[in-house]
Amino acid sequence: VNSIGIVGSGIAGLHLALFLQQHSVPVTLYSDRTAEQIRASRLPSTVARFEHTRARERALGVDHWSALGHDVMWTRLYINGEPPLTFRGDVSQPWSFVDMRLYLATLLGDFEERGGEVIVGAVQASDVARLANEHDLVVVASGRASLTELFPRVPEHSPYTQPQRRLCAGYFHGIENPEPLGFYYTISPGQGEIFQAPFYSFEGRVSNLLFEAIPGQGLDVITQLRYQDDPRTFEATVLKLLREHVPIVYERVNPKEFGLTRPLDLLQGAITPTVRRGYLQLESGKFVVAIGDVHVLNDPLLGQGANAASHAAWVLGEAILNGSLYDELFCHGVEQRIWAYARPVTEWTNAALQPPPHVIEVFVAAAQNKAVADQLVDNFNAPQRNWEVFSSPERAASFLRQFGWNAPASTLQSSELRAA
Ligand SMILES: Cc1cc2nc3c(=O)[nH]c(=O)nc-3n(C[C@H](O)[C@H](O)[C@H](O)COP(=O)(O)OP(=O)(O)OC[C@H]3O[C@@H](n4cnc5c(N)ncnc54)[C@H](O)[C@@H]3O)c2cc1C
Repeated sequence: VNSIGIVGSGIAGLHLALFLQQHSVPVTLYSDRTAEQIRASRLPSTVARFEHTRARERALGVDHWSALGHDVMWTRLYINGEPPLTFRGDVSQPWSFVDMRLYLATLLGDFEERGGEVIVGAVQASDVARLANEHDLVVVASGRASLTELFPRVPEHSPYTQPQRRLCAGYFHGIENPEPLGFYYTISPGQGEIFQAPFYSFEGRVSNLLFEAIPGQGLDVITQLRYQDDPRTFEATVLKLLREHVPIVYERVNPKEFGLTRPLDLLQGAITPTVRRGYLQLESGKFVVAIGDVHVLNDPLLGQGANAASHAAWVLGEAILNGSLYDELFCHGVEQRIWAYARPVTEWTNAALQPPPHVIEVFVAAAQNKAVADQLVDNFNAPQRNWEVFSSPERAASFLRQFGWNAPASTLQSSELRAA
């Protein structure tokens, strides 16, 4: 029987650990933090989980949140132009927004309760060779901030060398969420994007705001302001930005109740989208595999990273069940299968950071044709389909023709929007 060592207790590491445990493969999980420490940590992300990920959660028996009545049923896109453009798309399979500290701590608890071995402590790059001798295969799933240097960057899939957005995410009181629950995706041309979603967190339902600011533009002020220096100024600035950029969310704010839920429920930072090699060979000749953000790191603009990390865990888990020799052929095959899914995610996300004009044309069509809107929103669960829609003007036109929509008719409106 082979033994697998997994470094990292994020969604990638935990989904793989739970999968292997379920299939009686001996597995050791190395986590820098206990479940309690994860619960007590700073907001790490604001993750939407789509149906393909939720199906894996059901298969693993870790679907703790579906019964809470907290699922998100639709998305409203709002482009803050003159005039504004907006449409709502309904999803055929609901999305889930759960605080990842709660989520990961619970899954780590599940793994331990089922008899899983967890070794707490940060694994250093220099420890990896030792772990490789103790296990048949070591998997690095340590996320975007740790051990990434082990895996060489792949320049042809990493077009950016700097962050294209600066991020500020927080949980707030005082924003009403209409029922059934929905997700607001706002594009403020030249400024960035602002997302608002209901999240299930420690105290129940809260409202998340995520600002994706183009560096140096007006929206960017919120990624630079320090909350702890002056909480009132910080919150007043958030409200001012909502009023200017997202009036459809601002109108649901109750200013008397509005405020950050807790100082720890705030995240500021930036991500340089980077694709790295999915495996490496150690001096001993043994191979180490990377999954999740350590392998493919995208800007969170399209909400795909955690979903893709879970998918990668599954691909690797199935490969481990089907093979017992962890050589270059194994690693290369796994990397290729993971990349087949992650490539459209990466290319769609990187393109969306600098959206070409035909994207607006598709949105104009969606604003007038509900079936188009529903399809675009549902495709977040099948990102390769949206990359097929958005990858070129010809593909966009071909997609719209399926709905009886003639793309050229929208050109005037889209150029008006661009001018605005
Ligand atoms: C603001 C924001 C919003 C986002 N929104 C979405 C979204 O809507 N949908 C989506 O799918 N994705 C989203 N993402 C991306 C998502 O958070 C990541 O893609 C996902 O968390 C990657 O999972 P992972 O398991 O690879 O890494 P991580 O989640 O980073 O987990 C790695 C874990 O490993 C542990 N660890 C790290 N280093 C070590 C070490 N040296 N030794 C031992 N343990 C270690 C840490 O405890 C860490 O938690 C968002 C990200 C951000 C920042």
